[in-house]
Amino acid sequence: RKTVAIVGRPNVGKSALFNRLAGMNISIVHDLAGVTRDRITAECRRGPQVFNIMDTGGIGANTEDILTEQVQVEAAIALDVADLLLFVVDVTAGITPIDQSLAQMLRKTNKHVILVANKSDSDKRRLGSGEFSKIGFGNAAEVSAVHGYGIDDLVDSIVDKLELTEEETEEARDERLSARPLKLAIVGRPNAGKSSLVNAVFGQERAIVSDIPGTTRDSLDVHCTYNGKHYQLIDTAGIRKQAKVEDAVEIFSIQRSYAAIKRADLCLLVIDCATGAKMQDRKIAQMIVEERKPCILVMNKFDLFHPHAQQKDRLEELAETMRREFFFLSYAPLVATSAKNNENVGKLFVQIEKVRKGAQGRIGTGVLNRLMHETIENTPGPLGRSPQTFKLLYVTQVNETEDVSIPVPHFVMFANRAAKMTDGYLRFLESVIRKEWPAPGVPFRMSVRGKQ
Ligand code: GDP
Repeated sequence: RKTVAIVGRPNVGKSALFNRLAGMNISIVHDLAGVTRDRITAECRRGPQVFNIMDTGGIGANTEDILTEQVQVEAAIALDVADLLLFVVDVTAGITPIDQSLAQMLRKTNKHVILVANKSDSDKRRLGSGEFSKIGFGNAAEVSAVHGYGIDDLVDSIVDKLELTEEETEEARDERLSARPLKLAIVGRPNAGKSSLVNAVFGQERAIVSDIPGTTRDSLDVHCTYNGKHYQLIDTAGIRKQAKVEDAVEIFSIQRSYAAIKRADLCLLVIDCATGAKMQDRKIAQMIVEERKPCILVMNKFDLFHPHAQQKDRLEELAETMRREFFFLSYAPLVATSAKNNENVGKLFVQIEKVRKGAQGRIGTGVLNRLMHETIENTPGPLGRSPQTFKLLYVTQVNETEDVSIPVPHFVMFANRAAKMTDGYLRFLESVIRKEWPAPGVPFRMSVRGKQ
């Protein structure tokens, strides 16, 4: 859903406008400049088109930051996550220097900006709004957040600018996404058992819909249903067999894998566990991580892995080895299969559905902020407790690609002294989030923005 952020210097009436658009009294309006408020997001449902509205007041207040600095941090956050910005000014105050520096900042973004002249409570005051066109965002939308004047017109312009259409219901969206086949890239080095796996899938449930050649020549797409669900297998092995490309030419295999990974919703990385992970397996795994793709590690040829040992010990030993070999792919669940003997293929599909389902969750903004603030407070790690170090202001989850079967979440932290954050500590924070919301198979992207 699109997000509209309200930016402006303190006391122009951002909260009042937020409340008016949200249609309920969520954030408290104060008459004092710079009063601390929590930044909140709410839905604006004033018509069939729905959007989120974000109030940027109060971030960083009560800190050592000076006011204008605070306003800039707020604006930076809003600029980052919003699709459209409402730049609120106060007709009773005219253009102030802070308005001007904010305007300068807003001009640098390529986001839509609607200038909103608030406190246009009377005809006399409305006359004053003309002055604001000097600031460079066209004519201001005249509103009175407190009295409700001009709000419907403002909503219409928001809907126009964002080109919003009537919102699909959640059920309709779920239905549409689950009707779409889940694209599975079956990747791994030659001889790992990829073709055997595809054959095993078709052997179990012969509901082959069709053989449709892939959009690239690097792979063959095969459609199938399994347990009533529709899948599109991007089979990188099939084409090799057909085209008789030289097996030994590793580079081709890598390129084919890359194309398949890019197109996939979920990658099945097939490892031959009889021979163990090799350089090429790690290269492919690396590509999956770099492309931020959901992944399951398929430990194939399990029948050949210490076949005479106890089943449980074998599995534990193998899992331990794989975790070590693919430590950088720790989000991927492991499934041991024997494609040749048709063992555990059903389990693999159960896991695939778990990944798809788990990814649909989301961690609430309130919970997320509390969790991160508490963790950083209680586990200083390399950051130390000193106020001179990294200071988290706000963290939010953005789903960069919304309309996909398995969305990959991006956790963006806005902070002061952002450069103090280390990769190691970010991974630790990721593990804390995963305790709250495991999302197996789904990579999390963690990043920090803000002043160095
Ligand atoms: P691809 O190159 O990854 O497609 O690998 P193939 O599916 O062609 O398999 C390579 C070889 O491994 C073939 O001889 C298969 O019969 C064998 N193979 C595949 N999966 C298994 C398995 O789970 N167990 C055993 N023992 N052999 C397997």
